[in-house]
Amino acid sequence: MKNKNDTYFETSDTAEIPEAIISEKKRMPLPALIFTIVNFALLVLVTTCSLIIHKNVFTLAFELVGDSEVTVEYGEVYEEQGTKESFFGTILLKDGRVPEVETFGEVNTEVVGTYTVEYKATYLLDYHVGEKLFTETLRRTVKVIDTVAPEIKLETKDGWYTLPGQPYSEEGFAASDNYDGDITSKVEVKEKDGKVYYIAEDSSGNKTEAVREIFYDDPIPPEIGVLGYSEIILTVGDNYGDAGCTAFDNVDGDLTSSIIMSGEVLTDTPGTYTLTYSVADSYGNEASCIRTVKINPYVPPVVFPSAPAVSPSAPNGKVIYLTFDDGPGKHTERLLDILDKYDVKATFFVVNNPDYMHLLPRMVSSGHTVGMHANEHVYNKVYASDDAYYNDLYTIQSAINSYTGITPTILRFPGGGSNRVSRICPGIMTRLTAGVKDMGYRYFDWNVDSCDAGGTRSAWGVYNNVIKYIPKFEYSVVLQHDIYGYSVDAVENIINWGIENGYTFLPLTSDSPVCEHTVKN
Ligand code: ZN
Repeated sequence: MKNKNDTYFETSDTAEIPEAIISEKKRMPLPALIFTIVNFALLVLVTTCSLIIHKNVFTLAFELVGDSEVTVEYGEVYEEQGTKESFFGTILLKDGRVPEVETFGEVNTEVVGTYTVEYKATYLLDYHVGEKLFTETLRRTVKVIDTVAPEIKLETKDGWYTLPGQPYSEEGFAASDNYDGDITSKVEVKEKDGKVYYIAEDSSGNKTEAVREIFYDDPIPPEIGVLGYSEIILTVGDNYGDAGCTAFDNVDGDLTSSIIMSGEVLTDTPGTYTLTYSVADSYGNEASCIRTVKINPYVPPVVFPSAPAVSPSAPNGKVIYLTFDDGPGKHTERLLDILDKYDVKATFFVVNNPDYMHLLPRMVSSGHTVGMHANEHVYNKVYASDDAYYNDLYTIQSAINSYTGITPTILRFPGGGSNRVSRICPGIMTRLTAGVKDMGYRYFDWNVDSCDAGGTRSAWGVYNNVIKYIPKFEYSVVLQHDIYGYSVDAVENIINWGIENGYTFLPLTSDSPVCEHTVKN
């Protein structure tokens, strides 16, 4: 073109323009021009569109409404606050479009725990030339919590008390929790300094403490009791020494040293004396007990009319036959020790007491005499008939034999030959006293009664009775019962007294002097 123009201008001076060139210039067609312009406009348009598309930035704006971490109390309603979302461009779609939002995950406010709710926003951008998917994801943490502490209910019962120093005995309690339900069994109970602490903790760690103040009281009085006998019978001139009293309290323990005794015993004046022992515990509960001491007037000893003079075989002079009835019993072993200590021989009229029959061989080996008293010391049975008596006698005889190998031939009737308790069977004692002799046996009564089964219930009483009567006889058959501790207690003093006063102690044998009461039935 340029060249053609150049050619044209170069040739203009010539005034002759080539016709062909002129005609070409005149024939520039209109459609071509339009085409050119349109093309050019399209080019501009495409370029502009391309520029806009390049410069335009699309945004999927997506955010949570509310906090990304929320807590909900157990049992309350979880309110979903949702999201805020928009799709827009910086140049195109400036007014924004609404993307689609999907929500995933559930929150169960009936179960404590941590939940995640997920939100997914999508926007499908539809170009003329294609599609583009925009997505954004958000998450929210929802914590279902239990902040309500358990409740503790303490039961109280009327009149409930705890003895001082003793552990508290539970009246009852219950613990419940809004989430865990009944948690009574999980309550921790501690007793300290007069209080009881109850601590309940639920599964979320919420704790509740309840405190109970212990009510201490002691409505129980001490137990008080006299030592020895609560009724004592003595004779004027006997010694009286109080055996004392003991007291024990459920709270204070041994209160013996706090006992106050009132009253007195005048042993030289007959009468009945009352001694009162009182004690109080630290709660002011009082207790008391009494002992009566009866001082009898002096009664001269009974001299049994049938007691004969010394028999030909009797040893000369002062002889004491100690005899013990109704054993063996729990004091017998101690008695055997005392007798062995002084090498004193005595006589035991035994009953069949299986718990202590094992002591019989020792009696024999120590040189004592084992005599028959009764198999079953029950008057109504023994004296029910002659046969009943003999059956009883043979039974105790064979029992003694089975323990000692000895067949005893001396005996003492239950109640003595002079007893009246046998009157249920008239004349029986008259027949029996003769009958046993006919069979070759000997029976012995006594002429010195220690009264240990009667009015005297103390060692000094027994001792005094015995030593009071012995000097009146050339030989004395002393009646004691080794089933009474106080009677056994008196034996050592009796022996010492006898030794000091020149007496000899002997066991009864079939050769011993006669000592038989007047038969009264
Ligand atoms: Zn007896």
